[in-house]
Amino acid sequence: MNASEFTQQIKAVRQRADVLQNHAKISELLPSEILHDSLEELNTALEELRVAEEEIRQQNEELRNIRYALDVERQRYKELFDFAPDAYLVTNTEGKILEANRTATSLFKISQKYIKGKLLINFVPENQRRAFRSQLIRLQQIKQIQDWEIHMLTREHTEFDAAISITTMCDREGHPKGWRWLIRDITARKQAEEQLQAIRNENLQLQEATRLKSQFLAVMSHELRTPMNAILGFSQLLLRHPYNQFPPQARSMVERILSSARRLLTLIEDILDFSKLEAGRLELNLEELNLAELVTTTVEELHCLAQQKNLTVNVYINVKNPQIINDSDRVRQILVNLLSNAIKFTDIGHVNVEVLEIQDRVMLIVKDTGIGISEADLKNIFQEFRQLNQCLTRKHGGTGLGLAIVDQLIRLMKGSITVESKLAEGSTFRIELPRVVHSNH
Ligand code: ADP
Repeated sequence: MNASEFTQQIKAVRQRADVLQNHAKISELLPSEILHDSLEELNTALEELRVAEEEIRQQNEELRNIRYALDVERQRYKELFDFAPDAYLVTNTEGKILEANRTATSLFKISQKYIKGKLLINFVPENQRRAFRSQLIRLQQIKQIQDWEIHMLTREHTEFDAAISITTMCDREGHPKGWRWLIRDITARKQAEEQLQAIRNENLQLQEATRLKSQFLAVMSHELRTPMNAILGFSQLLLRHPYNQFPPQARSMVERILSSARRLLTLIEDILDFSKLEAGRLELNLEELNLAELVTTTVEELHCLAQQKNLTVNVYINVKNPQIINDSDRVRQILVNLLSNAIKFTDIGHVNVEVLEIQDRVMLIVKDTGIGISEADLKNIFQEFRQLNQCLTRKHGGTGLGLAIVDQLIRLMKGSITVESKLAEGSTFRIELPRVVHSNH
């Protein structure tokens, strides 16, 4: 029941009373009978009024509850509005700020009191105001703008990058009456994007530089190899009969030319291999080979080197089936690198080489009792040109490319290499390779 219904009801009661009064005037009934009828009528009317009153009371109660729920809800939205992580503003269609949440005030560095009534364009740098205005004109037609990125200003005139989304608020007739603004400070994101872009550019430049370096190295090594072969070939010839008639001093000179040329050639080969590996241009010549035989002959080849240092090299072959598919020259190269390092960096004790098999993989272990590698150095041991101890390096020579080549070759074979070491106790290099290596091209 609403208020007008209630008034209607009161009116009806009044009318009844009037009817009764008239009735009493013209009635031939006894006054007591009239009184009785009237009382009866009034009682019914009163009863109806009471029911109506009760109904109204209930409705009042309901209304109060609804108002309370609305207040709670309004408060909740206000809190959401105020504590939202992004700045929210409400402006009229001239862009005058009517409402602003806390984030907005802290973003623009201005208090609630002063932000209201200000034109939002005041917070846009002068050189962007024209664009700002034309966006607002556009907004009249499209009603909504999403993630529009512009520069904005705080009250202290510091610029920041902002992403803005705007929606139009309309009145009942559907005419625009203002705008809701969501403004997000994206300065940090922009900076991160710029940094990322700078890193990307740098990366591209680096990649290009690496490619050029590899190309240069490959060409250079190739060019160097040809004359080196001539030096090697002719000095070997000179040492042979019947040219070896020259005095002992000259012979020792030729021998030094030969050994230096050999070292130089190994170095050139290493550089060539490394540049090929880096450029992804090294191809494996896959064939079936006997790993046990390969390990034994390689160790024999390096026997001389170990003997010079009074070291024993023990070989343990623990495989039932030594047949594998791989590139024999490259497997040998890996082993020579690890073994010569083990011998180079061990003065007392021994070097052990072990071959094992684990299901469809084979394992090669080279263990020495040498100087060892510190924990800090272990992390970078497979990095190219990395030599750990400059004094030792000068003593032992080497390029710092050996382990980098080993690492890359093993990757190419889809295997893995790990190293364990302790200073003054020795090092253990473990290689795992698939029994069957597949072509990488
Ligand atoms: P290099 O040609 O200089 O030997 P490598 O890449 O083969 O280059 O080795 C890099 C460095 O790792 C060596 O200079 C040495 O300091 C260290 N190193 C490698 N193998 C061993 C080992 N078995 N024991 C101790 N140090 C080692």
